[in-house]
This record gives sequence, structure tokens and C-alpha cells, in this order.
Amino acid sequence: MGLIPDEVIAEIRMRADIVAVIGQHMQLRRAGRNWKGLCPFHGEKTPSFNVSPDKGFFYCFGCHKKGDVFTFVMEYQGKSFHETAEALAAQCGVAIPETQANPDAMRARSERAQMLEVNKLATQFFRETLAGAGGAPGRDYLAKRGTNDTMRDRFQLGYAPADWHALADFLKERRVDMEVAVKLGLVARQPRAGGFYDRFRDRLVCPVVVPGGEIAGFSARLVGDSPKDGDSGPVGAKYINSPESPVYKKSRLLFGLAQARESMGAKKRGVLVEGNFDVISMHQAGFDETVAPLGTALTAEQIELLRRMAPEVVLFYDGDRAGRVATRAALDLCLSGDVPVRVAWRSRGDDAVLDGQDPDTLLRDGRVDVEAMIRTARDGLEAYTYALIDAAKGAVNARAQILEHVAKLAQRVAEPLKRDVIAATLAMALDLDQGVVRNAIRGSGRESHDRTHDRPMPAEPVTVADPGVAAPIEEVDLVALLADHPSLLATADANGVFSLLTDARLRDMYSAALRGGSLMDLAPVHLPAASTKTFLEGRYASATDPQRQLLDMIAGLRNAQQQRRALELRRQLGEAQRRGDQHQARLLTEQLTEHHKTGR
Ligand SMILES: [Zn+2]
Repeated sequence: MGLIPDEVIAEIRMRADIVAVIGQHMQLRRAGRNWKGLCPFHGEKTPSFNVSPDKGFFYCFGCHKKGDVFTFVMEYQGKSFHETAEALAAQCGVAIPETQANPDAMRARSERAQMLEVNKLATQFFRETLAGAGGAPGRDYLAKRGTNDTMRDRFQLGYAPADWHALADFLKERRVDMEVAVKLGLVARQPRAGGFYDRFRDRLVCPVVVPGGEIAGFSARLVGDSPKDGDSGPVGAKYINSPESPVYKKSRLLFGLAQARESMGAKKRGVLVEGNFDVISMHQAGFDETVAPLGTALTAEQIELLRRMAPEVVLFYDGDRAGRVATRAALDLCLSGDVPVRVAWRSRGDDAVLDGQDPDTLLRDGRVDVEAMIRTARDGLEAYTYALIDAAKGAVNARAQILEHVAKLAQRVAEPLKRDVIAATLAMALDLDQGVVRNAIRGSGRESHDRTHDRPMPAEPVTVADPGVAAPIEEVDLVALLADHPSLLATADANGVFSLLTDARLRDMYSAALRGGSLMDLAPVHLPAASTKTFLEGRYASATDPQRQLLDMIAGLRNAQQQRRALELRRQLGEAQRRGDQHQARLLTEQLTEHHKTGR
């Protein structure tokens, strides 16, 4: 491996489309001349990751990571500079001059690069076998499942023959380092005779393709009903997957992601199913935004992957008991990660024959409108609540426990208006008073460290207004954010926050803060304990983009204020009409029209 000449690197940098390269791994939206998305290098909920195609640079305002297309691939995919250059060159059609004079070239390349190369060769072998004379069992299997040729190509499906050495021979002929093939789980060492034998035999092979086109590993399903040639144990299992390796980390991969990526962005949702063949059937039926975890329970990393590709996840798991349990676990993960999620569940008993079936079966049966199921999928938190109610089967105390559990999740929803909708839904599902639910959501997860200990009490005592009544939660949230980020007071002031606060105590605190007072110290004096907690827990202290959050809150309050204003105008108009005051009514009508136009 020689050095790649500078002019070739420059050529790659110029030709590689940084938006397209980064867009393979996350969803980017256009923002003027630039593109924006959720930063893949730090956890965030509002996009602060910017890509400038003009400058060929990316920059994150949250974690300040920056660089060019090379930096991104190296940091995000953990590749070496050389591997990055090779991968990018291949993608944008730049030829890297071969410096193969050195016979150690192959050896010197990193293990990762070799592994990807071997996986690529194996994929070629499996695909050629499926298409060739020996591929009949695989083709029959696909025909039986109704998988068409388009899907066969799209997923690069292949067939591993019922032979002990076919792949091993193929790889040896191509002078592959067999130790690498062993690490990849493609072949295994023969215990006594020496040499190597194939691990995948008589199986339909699904390569796991990562965005960018590399093959990370394989998931292979037995084609016959029972293992042949005396296989037993895990090797004879219905499915076998690649073992963990530097290129195959199953908790961070999703089957179908490379194929679904574009569609997820366009359709603004990712559908999650349980099995590989569910994914393939879904794509064939037009739901090409579908992916699946690789034979294991969903992980937080996979959720994070999805979140960067699509603004919403729809869970479409099997309808059986195991599927329901898995759905609950996945929901828990999505809700904990504050990822918008819905659940496509068939109401039981619609058609008893189809109860408990997987998406693949439902699609092939054709009696269930899968499109409608997904479109009308229920909100995650609501579905989760019903799942818990179902599981509790009317146990004593169940409702209280469920409320406590669900309230903790609901509390993570940042938007106050959305939280109110959730409270209403939960109240209905649990058959409880809305106020009770709201209190539970407000109260949960707030038992935190008391920060008053190391802070002095305010010098001048302030008159306390209505100490017992909790302040409006949206306004408390805004002032609490300012308490954690006093430098934003100027922004708040410039946006007229004072006129947006309806609670007299919060207005007092806010104006005292503008004059240099500490909100943290003012809160316990002005507010009842319930509202003070919000301040003391410092919930906005670690916000990644507090200014953006502040502006969102201001927009929310302004919106609420406008709604109140419209209501008030309508109330006055009604009164004027009842009184028969034509002049006043006309005036108010004009004001209402004006309000609709300008929001004032
Ligand atoms: Zn970042």
C-alpha cells in the first residue's frame, strides 16, 4: 500500500458530494444553502449539525465537531484515512493508482478493510450460486415465499449450497487470508483434518448491507425443513448470523437500512419489523421504509440510528405473545429515548385466523389492509398504556402503578401542549381524572438534589403572591431555563418575554432577574414547592441548545397568548351582539380579522 498522491486526494475531496456521503448515515434537510440534521456525534433533539456543500465542510454548533468529507467518514465509520480514500474514490469514480508492486500490500491493509473485501467476495459467491445450476433449492424457496427478482437483486440475496467446501475453495482460489474468513464466521477450522469448512450450508443468505454499500455480515436461513448432513446444535439452527467482528456489531446494525434509507427520509417514517423476510416482503409490497433488528431485541443504538434517518418510528411486530412483549420493550426504549413512535397493532379478533401473524404472512394473505394499519397506527404512549393495562389484567393497584410508570415517560415530552394531549389520553385509557394524571406527570422524576444548600437566601425578602397555587407549567419551564442559563436573559428580553408571562410571581422574579437577581434564589421565595422543584432540579442545565429551546418556548407562549386574545375578542363580540351594539360589534369584528392576519 503506497501513499495516495495528494492530487488524487484533492480530486476525491472535490468530487465527493459531502451532502450525499453524510446523508447516507443521517437525514439532512435543506436550510438555505446548507443542510441540517441531528448531530451523529452527540445526542440531541434539535438539529445543530450543519453541512455546507459549497465549502465542503460540516460543523456542529452543539459539540463543535467539524471537518470535511474525509473527517466525517473517518470519525463516523472509524475508518483509516486510506480506507476512507478508497471508499470515497469508489463512490465518486476516482481511480486510485495501484501500487501493487509490494506483495505485502494486502497484509498491510487494516483488518477491517480485509474483512469487508472478504464479505464482498462471499456475497458474490452466494449470488452466483443462487443464479447458477446449483441454486435451484434457493430459487424454489424464494418462489415459495413469493419473493420476486427485483427484491432478490435489491437485497443481494444468495444461496449457500449444501456442500462443505464450496465457499472455502472459492475464497482460497482468490488467495483470501482464511483466518479472516474464520473471524467473519464464513468458514470454520476443521478440528482434526486441518483445513476449513463452510459454516453456511443449504441456506438462503441475506447480506447485511450498510449505508454506503459495504457488506457487514450475513443472516442465513435454512432452506429445507430440517438440517441436512447431520448438522446439529447452533449450526443446524433455522437462522444463523455472522458472529460479532470489527465489521459486524449487531447492536448497531439494522437489516434493510441501506435499502430503506432514502425512503425513510421521503416518507418521514421508519417501519420496524422483527424478521429479515418481513423486511423483504414489506419492501416488495411498497413499504420500502422498513427495517429489522438482527435477530435480537432492539437496542438504544439502533433507535438512535433510526432517529437520524426518520422523524418517526412505527413498530409493526408479530401479533403473537412474543411479538407483544418485544413491542413493549421497543416502546419503552423509544419513549425513554424521546423518539416519536406509533404501534401498528391489529385489534384482536378481527379475524381469528390471522391473530398472532407476522407482517410477511399478513401481506401474503392479503385480507388485512396493511397500509391502513400503518397509517392509523396508535400513538406509542397510548399503545404502551393499553399494553400495560392488558398485562395487568385488572390487578389491584395496577392503575396507580401503570400511571406512575407511564407518567415518568410522559414527563420526558418537552412540549407542554403535547404533554397536555398525552395527559388527556392517559386519563381516558386509565379511567382517571385528568387533573390526577397531570399531577402525576408533573410530579414524576423530580426528586432531585437540593441546590439551595450552597446558595445564600436573597437579601431582600419579597412579597409572596398566592403562594399555594402552582404557576402555569409552561411559564415555569421558561423561567427555569433562564435560571440555568442566565446569559439568555437578554434574548428573552429582546423577545418580549415579560408580556408573555401571565403569572404575577413569575413576572416579579423575571424582572428581578433582569436587574441582576438570581432566579435560583428567587424561586423558593416566590413559588410553592411544586413549582420550585423545576428550578432546583436544574433540568435545563445540560440542554444542548438552550437558546433554541428558549425560542421554542417563547413561540409556544406567544401562540397561547394569541389564542387567549382571540377567545377574549370572540367573547366580547358575542356580548356586543347580544346587547345590540352594532358599532362595538363591527369594531371587534375588525379586530378579530386583524388578529387572524397578524396574530395581534
Ligand atoms: Zn454535535
